[in-house]
Amino acid sequence: MKGVFGYMENTRGQRYYRRLIPVTLIKEFFFCPRIPYIVLSTNYPQMPFEYVEIAKELEDEVIREALEIIGGEIVARKIEVSSHRLGLYGIIDCIVKVGGMLYVLEVKDVPHENLMISHKFQTLAYVLLAKETGINVRGGMIYYKRARKIFHIKPSKDSVKTLLRIIEYIHKSIKLGMPTIYGKKCATCSYRHLCDR
Ligand code: SF4
Repeated sequence: MKGVFGYMENTRGQRYYRRLIPVTLIKEFFFCPRIPYIVLSTNYPQMPFEYVEIAKELEDEVIREALEIIGGEIVARKIEVSSHRLGLYGIIDCIVKVGGMLYVLEVKDVPHENLMISHKFQTLAYVLLAKETGINVRGGMIYYKRARKIFHIKPSKDSVKTLLRIIEYIHKSIKLGMPTIYGKKCATCSYRHLCDR
């Protein structure tokens, strides 16, 4: 079965055993909340969203480009992080130091001028995972290469609460199933052949 398993703790301090979910599924959740359920229940590999992800060979260059704007330096690359408390795992692409503070840096190749909510919560998840792993990051930054824009992600109480709700929702959907959602996005969905439609 795909995924990592571990003990989690609920808000009442009770411990129970369950699967950890990859952070990348948080991003996919915003395309359609059914995708995490499909990927985790079928063991189907996650489809790459090529227009969004920077090709591996270009990643270093784009990070350098972002650092020219931010004015910081790279502290670490490709850090594996996981948290049984959060029920999440993933790989942080880059940690940077700016003005003496550490930040998670994500770089994206999207044709948008404004920050996508999926990227906001994906990066926030990495921020929380970094903190859980003992890396004292202050927040996250996202660089949109095409727009040459930096977005700052702060772990505010409200945004963390929303993220925890999303993680909980995904965990519940793995257990209970998730009905098909009919919508405009289905026409361009990479998982359509696995959906019940
Ligand atoms: S086909 Fe439609 S309902 Fe199914 S996962 Fe894709 S967007 Fe969601």
